[in-house]
Amino acid sequence: MGYSDKLEVTISCDDCGVTEENSAKDYGGGYGGPAWEHLDSFSDFTVVATHDERRGPDIKSATCKKCCKPAKIQKKYSQ
Ligand SMILES: [Zn+2]
Repeated sequence: MGYSDKLEVTISCDDCGVTEENSAKDYGGGYGGPAWEHLDSFSDFTVVATHDERRGPDIKSATCKKCCKPAKIQKKYSQ
C-alpha cells in the first residue's frame, strides 16, 4: 500500500522569472494514519491553499506578487 508522503510544490511566474519551491511532509503512518504538516508560506506569490490532514495540502491558486498574474503551479509527490 505505498502512498506518497512528501509533497513538493513549485510555483513560478514566467513573466518575472521568479520560481519558489516549498515542501510538506506526512509525519503520520501506522495506526494514526496520515498527518500532513502545513506548507510554508511563499514570499513571492500570494497562495491560496487548503489543508487536509489525511490527504495533505493542496494549492488552489497562486498569484505573482510582482505582476499580479496567475502563476504556474507544479506539484510532485514522492516517498
Ligand atoms: Zn510575475
